[in-house]
Amino acid sequence: MSSDVAIDAWLAEHGYGLPPARALAHAAIEEAGLTRAGKLRISNEKLPRVLGVLRERFCLHCSTPECIGFARASGRAPLLCDPKPACERCGGSSNRGAEADLIEACAKAGMKRLVIIGGSPAVREELEGALGSALQLRMIDGTERRTIDNAKADMQWGDLVLLWGASELHHKVSMQYTNLSQPELKRKLVRVQQRGIAALLHAAIDHLKR
Ligand SMILES: [Zn+2]
Repeated sequence: MSSDVAIDAWLAEHGYGLPPARALAHAAIEEAGLTRAGKLRISNEKLPRVLGVLRERFCLHCSTPECIGFARASGRAPLLCDPKPACERCGGSSNRGAEADLIEACAKAGMKRLVIIGGSPAVREELEGALGSALQLRMIDGTERRTIDNAKADMQWGDLVLLWGASELHHKVSMQYTNLSQPELKRKLVRVQQRGIAALLHAAIDHLKR
């Protein structure tokens, strides 16, 4: 027995919740011969093909300017999404948006190696998952002893070094980095005082833009 779903409810679940988006999505599905005008339900079997048609034609974005710009540059028709997590660029999260921005800013600046000193183990894990495939990361536990030689080696290895003072970072550790006097190393160091991943990454992006 094959089952089916209400088309409009399914579209809303996939980010086509606003009337204009829903109408355009409906028209695209009809055009692909997967439904007819006026039909309210569609068989589950067809849904993977429906999703394929929609993804090929539309780029769902939220109302954040960066996400609108991303959708316009996608080569597909930009559509304002609802709910927000359907946004293809940020997934409705300011962290994910900032992660995407940082990866782009690093690529533009030709930077590949990022050192982050501080942060909780959970935050380091999230950053590893989000940035690890695009950047080489060295995450330093700011609560564990670090020698001046360790600090110097980190600074030489990294293209950019984020010293995250608002998080789990002992003064004795941060001092090893801030005490380094070589100008070519000092230039790479960004001191961040704000809490939160998005704020950390925005500080890095601002530094790269300068
Ligand atoms: Zn977005």
